[in-house]
Amino acid sequence: AAKAAGKGRYHFYHSHLSDTLLLKLDKERALRDAVASDQFVMHYQPRVEAVSGRLSSMEALVRWKHPERGMIYPNDFIGLAEDTGLIMPLGELVIEKVCAQVAEWKACGMAIVPVSLNVSAHQLRNERLAGFIEDCLQRHAIEPALIEVELTESAMLDNSVASRRQLIELRRLGVKLLIDDFGTGYSSLAQLHQLDVDVLKVDRAFTTALADGNGEVMFRAVTSMAEALDIRVVAEGVETAEQLRSLQRLHCDEVQGYLIARALPAAEIPSLFTQRFLFAPA
Ligand code: C2E
Ligand code: MG
Ligand code: MG
Ligand code: MG
Repeated sequence: AAKAAGKGRYHFYHSHLSDTLLLKLDKERALRDAVASDQFVMHYQPRVEAVSGRLSSMEALVRWKHPERGMIYPNDFIGLAEDTGLIMPLGELVIEKVCAQVAEWKACGMAIVPVSLNVSAHQLRNERLAGFIEDCLQRHAIEPALIEVELTESAMLDNSVASRRQLIELRRLGVKLLIDDFGTGYSSLAQLHQLDVDVLKVDRAFTTALADGNGEVMFRAVTSMAEALDIRVVAEGVETAEQLRSLQRLHCDEVQGYLIARALPAAEIPSLFTQRFLFAPA
């Protein structure tokens, strides 16, 4: 049909298609180079106890420091990394960087807290994941209690043999398991309890919905059940003092979000270890 519409038009359509394809191939090549030459840095976002403001953990978030295009955020490249399989070597880079960083902070004698790693469903299906983490912990002489693994509900409930084996291995290692973006999937708390999940990070959408009462219903249900099952509840994306007050009232254990701190470069983290409390107790 495009051809029948005239030569010029066909040409336009054709070149548009190949432009998109070229862009994607271009981006894939750039990402491949970035992984090969390690153009990634980790930023760290604190997680604090909701009532006291005491620092409880740090989430490691990857950034691509592109030599020309500047800082690129994960939403712009994790998907491509997953589609191309580059998530495996990228994930290993991330694990290696985080372990090296924790070891460095430890060596300085700082009062460190555990660091959580984001792991996608693709990575969990990799038979080397737990072994790689174990090897990293050993090489850097880090105790497993200092590393936490964040997985989404769908990754956690992926029924593939490989994923289930990795979950068992991670448990055996002694790293904590966290559910990321909780409430966006279809898991039940009973299932998560069975999988021995330690922490639920309730998705930012529910924190946002606190303003109109919808979020409150969700947090009430989750905190009461989680308490009975001995699972901690974290609210993601806390941006206002009002949200923090509601979450304290709803017995949410921990909070994370721009109100407390954004993800920060590693150099800014030691002062948080010293400070210990990131807001005045309520
Ligand atoms: P996530 O794990 O749910 O991380 C939370 C994201 O929300 C982060 O974005 C964080 O900077 C942002 N955020 C934190 N507090 C607030 C807030 O108060 N308001 C708003 N609007 N946003 C907030 P980021 O760093 O761009 O990461 C996006 C996603 O990319 C992460 O979502 C995670 O799923 C993925 N990701 C990040 N690092 C890695 C990694 O090393 N490996 C893998 N596989 N995925 C990663
Ligand atoms: Mg996360
Ligand atoms: Mg999250
Ligand atoms: Mg989220």
